[in-house]
Amino acid sequence: MIGRNLLHRSVSGSLALLFVMCVGLSNPLLARTTQRAKARIDKRAFGSLEDGTPIDLYTLKNRNGLQVEITTYGGAVVTINTPDRHGRKADIVLGYSDASGYVSDVSYFGALIGRYANRIARGRFTLNGVEYQLAQNNGVNHLHGGVHGFHKVVWQAREKTRAGGVALELTYLSRDKEEGYPGNLAVTVTYVLTNANELRIEYAATTDKETVVNLTHHSYFNLAGAGAGDILRHEVKINADRFTPVDETLIPTGELRAVQGTPFDFNRATAIGSRIDQADEQLVFGKGYDHNFVLNKKGRELSLAATAYDPTSGRSLEMWTTEPGVQLYTGNFLDKVRGKAGRVYNYRGAFCLEAQHFPDSPNQPAFPPTILKPGERYTQTTVYKFMVRGAKEKP
Ligand code: BGC
Repeated sequence: MIGRNLLHRSVSGSLALLFVMCVGLSNPLLARTTQRAKARIDKRAFGSLEDGTPIDLYTLKNRNGLQVEITTYGGAVVTINTPDRHGRKADIVLGYSDASGYVSDVSYFGALIGRYANRIARGRFTLNGVEYQLAQNNGVNHLHGGVHGFHKVVWQAREKTRAGGVALELTYLSRDKEEGYPGNLAVTVTYVLTNANELRIEYAATTDKETVVNLTHHSYFNLAGAGAGDILRHEVKINADRFTPVDETLIPTGELRAVQGTPFDFNRATAIGSRIDQADEQLVFGKGYDHNFVLNKKGRELSLAATAYDPTSGRSLEMWTTEPGVQLYTGNFLDKVRGKAGRVYNYRGAFCLEAQHFPDSPNQPAFPPTILKPGERYTQTTVYKFMVRGAKEKP
């Protein structure tokens, strides 16, 4: 049964990937630059932990010159350099110039998040009659795996060969009881930068004791360039007819509410800022958008979840995922963070699209389950695809 599911997943995943690649090649700017350079991966020192553990930075470059930097600290994506409609490159993710920025970061810039992304109410859940207490690091709730979650550890890295791109494999063993979670969890995350201008993130995990798992990636995007003002004019489209409303501590109430007629309807591309300050209770609780959308999909197929477009630069982003939900977070808690090259990131200066199972699923029996048992394999795949609109072809 598990084998058949996996086969089905990988076949439908490949078809979706093929489709994504075809769409990418029909883009004039990308077609023009296709296959100029050789895809490559380089490594350099990025800093170290207090105890001397080295932290590295890997630079992945695809054939079109698209460049992604990833650090072994928190598995964080540090840089994504993409062209605008005139071919001018900019770095479109928030981050820091060196490892020390990530060590003191409180915003989860670009990081891998686990063991459980998003919130668990009061940091508590029960498995097989045993109650587990996790860190309450977000008011009374548990957020993004705890104080020392997957974003605060050094991952082991290995360069991998992949047809159609370059890949970096990161592994981490989360020990039994780490941050309060049961079971030794062996995690592998592979970042693939494809020649179709996608950053593909493949996650896998196994455990030796029943546990909960919900992994995600936390890049903060500003398609006009990191530090270039707010993202309120970015137009977002989310393939979701429902979302999970929350209480004032951002824990889902359990309801799957229709987005129709609410500021949460992104079925048509809509500027983030056009409704964000409406007197809507949910927007007040989130201080803007900080909500999980229930994706319109049948199963675990890799499907188009969301798109974002910046009309000024022409850059656009597609997000595909196997997950049932996506968190739209509009940087409502960002407050004058000093990042790369001395740039300052302000309130609503970026947005996140975090693929995930719904928040607080371990306490919500009606939500898709997040339990992983020994002998099973957790998998999730998310693809961010970078494009431009309105590019003129050179004669
Ligand atoms: C959460 C926000 C939180 C942010 C941390 C998001 O995933 O939903 O509430 O503040 O991560 O930077």
